[in-house]
Amino acid sequence: MSEPQRPHPLVRSLVESLSSRRRWPRGLYVHVPYCVAKCPYCDFNSYAFSDPGQLDEMVEAILQEAEQWAALLEGGRGGFRTLFVGGGTPTVLRPAQLRRLVVGLRERLPLSDLEEATIEANPGTLTLEKLEALREAGIDRVSVGVQSLQPDELRRLGRIHTAEQAVRSVAMIRRAGFARFNLDVMVAIPGQTAESLRHTLDRLVGELGARHVSAYVLTLEESTPFFEAWRRGELPMADEETQARMVELVVSRLAGAGLERYEVSNFARPGEESKHNLGYWRHQTYLGLGPGAHSFWAGFRFASVRAPAAYVGAVRPGGATAGSAVGFIERLCLRQWMDERILLGLRIAEGVDRERFARELGYPLEEAYDPRVWDRLEAGGLIRRDGRTVRLTDRGFLVADAVAVAITASARPLPGEAEPLLQGEAQGEPDEDVGADPAAGADQPESQFTGAPHAAVEADLVAAAHP
Ligand code: SF4
Repeated sequence: MSEPQRPHPLVRSLVESLSSRRRWPRGLYVHVPYCVAKCPYCDFNSYAFSDPGQLDEMVEAILQEAEQWAALLEGGRGGFRTLFVGGGTPTVLRPAQLRRLVVGLRERLPLSDLEEATIEANPGTLTLEKLEALREAGIDRVSVGVQSLQPDELRRLGRIHTAEQAVRSVAMIRRAGFARFNLDVMVAIPGQTAESLRHTLDRLVGELGARHVSAYVLTLEESTPFFEAWRRGELPMADEETQARMVELVVSRLAGAGLERYEVSNFARPGEESKHNLGYWRHQTYLGLGPGAHSFWAGFRFASVRAPAAYVGAVRPGGATAGSAVGFIERLCLRQWMDERILLGLRIAEGVDRERFARELGYPLEEAYDPRVWDRLEAGGLIRRDGRTVRLTDRGFLVADAVAVAITASARPLPGEAEPLLQGEAQGEPDEDVGADPAAGADQPESQFTGAPHAAVEADLVAAAHP
């Protein structure tokens, strides 16, 4: 019999840190990696499933992983505020499997104080029975991958659903009692015109009554069939200028219907924003369960192994403990933490909170990055600064990535940055829950970087731990 693999030192460090601090993160993401068929543009960690037994096996493996984290943090403080079940297509699961997954998570993890519980759905897989099972299990928001309401565009995308199914899905969502839902729409689909995009948007906000829309520009990902077709000259893609014009059309059309852009690709009526996704952009902590799911917790970024079979094997009952499915891990250094705060914060309309940046990361923004760059961006009308925040302007949103890169590239050496502050354990994380739960956050350290090492270490553990 082979010796059990010893966990990577960083995984050991993560587990030790969590077992001593015993504080749950704010968000829970659950990844169901299966779809009915693989869309030709998609490079997500998703797989067409062939054997229905795989679905049962995956639900049980995810619950097993949940149990392992629960055992590690037994009696831990706090609890999850948001749940997001994504994929893949979680709604490929049958009603009983959906119920088992959501109820099973509730039985194992501190989910009693949830402020939002979302599931992603493909219109080709939704039924009223599934939606009712989800409602009963405590899901209160559905995110539907509509993508387009033009039959030829859906066909070109290789989607399994029709425009009629998308429309019926929204009717079923309402009938099952969901008050909150999101509709995904895709921009710059080959062959899409301003007219066809406008038509789709108008139906989403008019006929379907969408109060939250996510609008993503179709991007070519290497090693997808779309990429190969484009390389052969068989797939006409919109150029950057056309894409920008289409995004402007989305912004103005949705604003006209009362949906404001609160993130680069997300639009909502006031109060309808996705609480879970806002947590990512606000740099708050989360745990991911399922193959390839990412986590950000206690100063570490880590992810489970991506392949479903390797994941199921890694969390198998008997011997496996929390962290056994980790396939990638890194500990963030101060500079990474600062850059992430900028990159994520500038994506949202509320911007980067200057006071929180200085309090948690130890330096004001203008000390951490060259003040001349801030001045130039402001003079160019790309950012707006006041005493509290730094935000992108409408113009800045058009070139959000370039603005973020300009700022992060202007990083200034910080006193002591050349040397690790202290080798060893990370001792803190931002007090991400202070706003929501001041009492629970009271014993968090004020300065978060008194003990974080500056040398981030990255390890791909897939080969070592899962041969
Ligand atoms: S349904 Fe979504 S996750 Fe599945 S293959 Fe299509 S785009 Fe990817």
